[in-house]
Amino acid sequence: MTLTVGVIGGGQLARMMIPAATHLGIGLRVFAETEGSPAGLAATAVGDYRDADQVLRWAEGLDAVTFDHEHVPQAVLQRLVELGVPVRPGPHALLYAQDKLLMRERLGQLGLPMPEWAAVSTEAELDEFIEAHGGAAVVKTPRGGYDGKGVKVVRRGHEAIAWFEDAAVGALLVEELVEFRRELAQSVARRPSGAIAAWPVVESVQQNGVCAEVIAPAPRSMGKLSDVAEQIAVTVAEGLDVTGVLAVELFETTDERLLVNELAMRPHNSGHWSIEGSTTSQFEQHLRAVLDLPLGGTGCRDPWSVMVNVLGGPMGESLDSRYSRAMGGHPLVKFHSYGKESRPGRKVGHVSMGGDDLDDVVYQARAAAEMLAS
Ligand code: ADP
Repeated sequence: MTLTVGVIGGGQLARMMIPAATHLGIGLRVFAETEGSPAGLAATAVGDYRDADQVLRWAEGLDAVTFDHEHVPQAVLQRLVELGVPVRPGPHALLYAQDKLLMRERLGQLGLPMPEWAAVSTEAELDEFIEAHGGAAVVKTPRGGYDGKGVKVVRRGHEAIAWFEDAAVGALLVEELVEFRRELAQSVARRPSGAIAAWPVVESVQQNGVCAEVIAPAPRSMGKLSDVAEQIAVTVAEGLDVTGVLAVELFETTDERLLVNELAMRPHNSGHWSIEGSTTSQFEQHLRAVLDLPLGGTGCRDPWSVMVNVLGGPMGESLDSRYSRAMGGHPLVKFHSYGKESRPGRKVGHVSMGGDDLDDVVYQARAAAEMLAS
């Protein structure tokens, strides 16, 4: 019988698993939130992922259930586990990608390097932390944030008043404002039986809390830096019993330390370069890993790969209305559209390119992405 993976969430990450599943001849069933979602082509159910009965009905007979996002409630995940469905990553691991306070606590137990942090429940506690950390700090809502939503740099406790007053938010995570040289991301994939494969560490450039560009491998990262990044991700994957792809976002500090920012237990924006740039893309590797199949090679196909997100996109038109112009001058660039409606700042697609000359690759990928976005 054909192996079949179920993906909860119909976003672009689920969408990009479709070609990988097709090539492997694996069935893919998506539980989407809405009709016409980016992964609509593989959607076999449209519903509410917080409703265990709906999810359980959809999950019957699946060889593994995995995710496009980390928002599925623990109670729903537990019901799937009780039903005997292999949930990958399991609820006990996913918990730490769902809640940033729990994540900080657990990574501390594992002895991993992190920004200084605290849980705060009042303005006064936040003021105290800010004062002890140079007059500024980063406050985060522990749950539900993405793309910088739920992250705020503050100089006074009062600036987080709206979150303190929102009972649903609970205690907040506060972190020192890290002086970083750059942001890196280290992805690995882990099988339930334990084998791990790591891609090279990459540099990710953020604009307004959103990933704008990724360079693989991260320039000037050979040797100690890449070894440390890989060791951190392997420690997280094993310590938390993560299965599937794990992306660890890292800060490289001005004094050359690596600190863990956050975790994603699924394919991640920082790994999109791997579709064309690595022997095994993160989407194929995720499917292999959640099915406990042998992992593929993670080497680079080119000395440099660059991925540039298309943010915003042409209002009222689909991305392909710009293809003629963007593809014309850039035959080596690969184009990806997520089939989403354009909105200011929204990730609607990405481009990627590989080559020997980093400056040229960056220049061309940026130019192509700009033509799509404008
Ligand atoms: P999200 O879950 O929304 O992606 P992150 O925790 O990754 O939120 O934060 C978004 C961005 O905010 C990071 O990529 C980084 O640029 C900045 N940031 C987050 N935490 C800190 C910190 N402690 N110090 C400095 N900058 C930070």
